[in-house]
Amino acid sequence: MVHPDTELRFVNDNIGWGVFATRPIPKGTIIWALDTLDQKFNPEQVAGLPPYAQAALEKYSYIDARGRHILCWDHARFFNHSCNANCLSLGYDFELAIRDIAAGEELTDDYGTLNPLVAFPCLCDAPDCRQAVQPDDFARLGDRWNTRAREAFFLIPSVPQPLWNVLSDRADIEGALADPNRVRPIHGHYRHALATGAF
Ligand SMILES: [Zn+2]
Repeated sequence: MVHPDTELRFVNDNIGWGVFATRPIPKGTIIWALDTLDQKFNPEQVAGLPPYAQAALEKYSYIDARGRHILCWDHARFFNHSCNANCLSLGYDFELAIRDIAAGEELTDDYGTLNPLVAFPCLCDAPDCRQAVQPDDFARLGDRWNTRAREAFFLIPSVPQPLWNVLSDRADIEGALADPNRVRPIHGHYRHALATGAF
């Protein structure tokens, strides 16, 4: 479920639609949380879908560490990529605003964190755009993403959290807020890492 102070807006013919803030959203706000209405498809289920459904999944879903396609039921599925994303996750099923987001600003995440199966060119306007999103971006950028997301994580108790009750692992998050050693790193989302036990 995506934060209530967001809406879908048309960006341009090239990018299509995107998710925008309707009010200022402070750093540390949980901007999206996996909820019970989001659909999960394991690889066998995906293989059994008709081509039009596979194409829709490829466009609108992301892949979790277990290799499942996750299809968000609301406008969270329209989050666009940025190489300078303002939202990132840690090793939990939610995304955080990693800096203050202004009203009217587009919310973006880094598709490199979402286990893309193939590389694709990047069209974002970030000054440090890396020109392409790669399946193994995690290996190069995981530590940097983790540092940024951790900073925002410890602001969770300080800012309004309308999605707090949607979270399934609230006790675990509270434990990590009290003990920084318990914070789950973003690397937990890396499908390759789960397969190899690297993290
Ligand atoms: Zn880019």
